[in-house]
Amino acid sequence: MSFTFQIDRTAGSARAGVFLTPHGAVETPAFMPVGTLATVKALDPDDLVQMGASMILANAYHLHLRPGDDVVRELGGLHRFMRWERPILTDSGGFQVFSLAQLRTLNDDGVEFQSHIDGSRRFFTPEFVIQIERNLGADVIMQFDHVIPGQSDEASARDASERSIRWLARCLAELNRLESIQPLEGAPPMVTFSADDPGNRQALFPIVQGGIHASLRRDAAKKISEMHDWPGFGIGGLSVGEDKDAMYEMIEVVDEALPKAHPRYLMGVGFPEDLIESIRRGIDLFDCVAPTRMGRNGAVFTRDGRLNIKNTEFRTDPRPLDADCDCAACTRFSRAYIRHLFVSDEILGLRLLSLHNVHFLLSLTRQARQAIRSGNLEQWAREWLARYRATSAVAV
Ligand SMILES: [Zn+2]
Repeated sequence: MSFTFQIDRTAGSARAGVFLTPHGAVETPAFMPVGTLATVKALDPDDLVQMGASMILANAYHLHLRPGDDVVRELGGLHRFMRWERPILTDSGGFQVFSLAQLRTLNDDGVEFQSHIDGSRRFFTPEFVIQIERNLGADVIMQFDHVIPGQSDEASARDASERSIRWLARCLAELNRLESIQPLEGAPPMVTFSADDPGNRQALFPIVQGGIHASLRRDAAKKISEMHDWPGFGIGGLSVGEDKDAMYEMIEVVDEALPKAHPRYLMGVGFPEDLIESIRRGIDLFDCVAPTRMGRNGAVFTRDGRLNIKNTEFRTDPRPLDADCDCAACTRFSRAYIRHLFVSDEILGLRLLSLHNVHFLLSLTRQARQAIRSGNLEQWAREWLARYRATSAVAV
């Protein structure tokens, strides 16, 4: 087995574990920085290594459209193409197909849509998406799923969830077929092409859908778990406009319904308070574009809530962004300097805030892991959230 998950310690539903992949270990809970187009915006892979990032994300839909998954494959797979030797996870593009693209037709076979780049017509089936993800060669690949708006009614949510489960079976069959005929580009050295070599395998994660309907989430988790012994599970369709209580309730339902022995990845969730609340409810992996996207708008995570560096109050502020942070921005530069960079449209400003925000979330999940291991997660979480929320009123 090339993918294993070992749980070292639990605290209620929370777990501190190690997820092993052919490109190395991911200590969980973990935040995965998002590199949609095979780059975590404004950051060099060396920066990410220095911050202690283990697994990062890329996106199959975007990389298929540009530069083309065939191009990535020809250049040795995603790890070699982007010079990232550690684990990578690719999202299938279900979310992008159903949100960014102009939809044309959807049926059980697949989806026809127009590219958001040039309007060209495309047809994605579960099989085709797995072929893209095989060409890219990430360690973990997500199934192609039917994504619907967060507050969809129960009938639409059931329809999409059941279609996603039918598509999951086709994703699995296609991956099994490809693993027996197509070598994995970018596999670590020593891996030989053989259906028996575990290094030639990719971990396919199913995605539990079901909107904000507990019974649908429970059904989906049950049907998916019965289909196959999956190396991990994605939980999709949350943090898309529903209120926080509904999101936490759905996570609790799924925590109960899924097998405990495998990592759970809550897709697209990554604000500090959401990370802590979800870790408490049994989530192991997270991703979110917020730290880099917000960083480019001047928003900064700090232990005392969020601030916006563009505000006039920071014009002569000599302090670092966050006094408790040991990132490459906070250990060298003042708020006043970084504000000056932003106001002057200097690209170093964007880079420093992206560095800090990504570092902040990586560090937060490491602290949570430490708290689980030391047996004081509840107290740590309470204190962390109280301080973060106490001053958030002055934030952006
Ligand atoms: Zn910092």
